[in-house]
Amino acid sequence: MDARSIRLLTSAPTTIGETCRPGWGGSLTRAPAVVALLPAYAPRRRSLHWMVASIVLGLFFAGAVTAAPLRVVTTLPPIYCLTVNVAGDLAKVENLLPPGAAAHDFQFTVAARHKLERADLVIANGLGLESWLDEAMGKSAARRIVRCATGLEAAQEPAAGHSPNPHVWLDPILAIAMVTNILTALQQTDPANASAYATNAAAFTLRLRKLDEEFRAGLASLPSRAIITSHDAFPYLARRYGLERVGVIEEHAEIDPSPAHLRELRATIQKHGVKTLFVDAHESQRRAKQLARDFKVAVLVLDTLEEAPLTPTSYEDGMRQNLRALQQGLK
Ligand SMILES: [Zn+2]
Repeated sequence: MDARSIRLLTSAPTTIGETCRPGWGGSLTRAPAVVALLPAYAPRRRSLHWMVASIVLGLFFAGAVTAAPLRVVTTLPPIYCLTVNVAGDLAKVENLLPPGAAAHDFQFTVAARHKLERADLVIANGLGLESWLDEAMGKSAARRIVRCATGLEAAQEPAAGHSPNPHVWLDPILAIAMVTNILTALQQTDPANASAYATNAAAFTLRLRKLDEEFRAGLASLPSRAIITSHDAFPYLARRYGLERVGVIEEHAEIDPSPAHLRELRATIQKHGVKTLFVDAHESQRRAKQLARDFKVAVLVLDTLEEAPLTPTSYEDGMRQNLRALQQGLK
């Protein structure tokens, strides 16, 4: 996977011009109209007319260069953060979910629908996380949508009958693979800026590799490796850094645990000597305190970043906070 990332990030997109999405960069469609005017001029005034044509074409290309930037809509804060680092100032990136909206059961709003309608490119996570998006995209099949985590879950075989776990971004190495997919999507949609996107992606990938190194070093020698989290969002992170997922507080995301499940959880805590529960950033304080009291454990936030701030560094900042929480809770 790493080799693939590097190859894609460093190879020039030679055939991208042929894959430009029709309709984007509307000024390009004016070119045939300008050229079609030229034969109407009399041959004896050719030089003057070619000069006029050159000026017109020059103005046209100048317009093309300064055309409105690509409009990209992402679904979740982590996807926004990965995308905005590849897009830089070459595209206008907006996130679909308003701050604080729950990723797993988002209720579509009129504002979100308008954002989708204005987008040149929609970048989603995929793997069933944004089931609410499929219905909204249904009537506009021509709009480009890229699900940048699709296929990356293959490292972990889902149990038979279960859909794949969508939380791929919580493994920095898989996040790099998502960045590669986002890069390809941007290059194909906006081929004029392909090399600039590649430069941005390469720089961001270096930062993510540094983050991975910090996790490897930071988690290498912890005495305990058993984690219990709010919902089952960390299989990829656990696999990458040798942690063991022994339980979840919510059997189903956003749904309170049953008394029977809490009894099982108590037994799991005792069996594995768990001293800390890792809860989502948006976990209710009341429930966290109750669990801490009932189970006589500490509670720390291990953030899925599903409601992270929409900034270019929120992924790295949030992951470094997660690293500190793991180091504190597992020592
Ligand atoms: Zn989740």
